[in-house]
Amino acid sequence: MTYISLKLKSREYKLVIIDVKGSISCAELSLIDKTSLIILGKARYKDTDSLAKGFLHELGHSLGLYDECVDCAQLSFGGYPNCAPTKEEAERWWGDLAGKDPRVNYIAGCCGNKNYIRPAIASLMNDPDKAEDFGPVNERYLRNILMSFIRGPLCKE
Ligand SMILES: [Zn+2]
Repeated sequence: MTYISLKLKSREYKLVIIDVKGSISCAELSLIDKTSLIILGKARYKDTDSLAKGFLHELGHSLGLYDECVDCAQLSFGGYPNCAPTKEEAERWWGDLAGKDPRVNYIAGCCGNKNYIRPAIASLMNDPDKAEDFGPVNERYLRNILMSFIRGPLCKE
């Protein structure tokens, strides 16, 4: 086992556990300013690229992103920012990008529920091995929370 702690503020952190022989990966659905746990079962990944994408997927959960898979078990209800319960909600969340970025649309199925709406066909929050990035909607969300955090507590220390 390898432990990595990503320290965020004085008391909050992301604890990353790499289980070398294990094959289960998971993370708490959390927020950037909350302590949470990420577990990576290294044995499930075929190479370092796959492991890196798996880590980014789980890190996405620890920063508030939902699974975008359709055929997976529904582990949680969807929610902001990437798993809208209705098309109307999706239009409020990423409608400004849907008309401008060809990768952004209203795709049926998210979080193991065919009724939820996700913003892109491929994303690291869907099948990490088939995606190269988080997709425009998730990247905007991540950029905003990371920048607000950097502008906030880290600058004050
Ligand atoms: Zn996941």
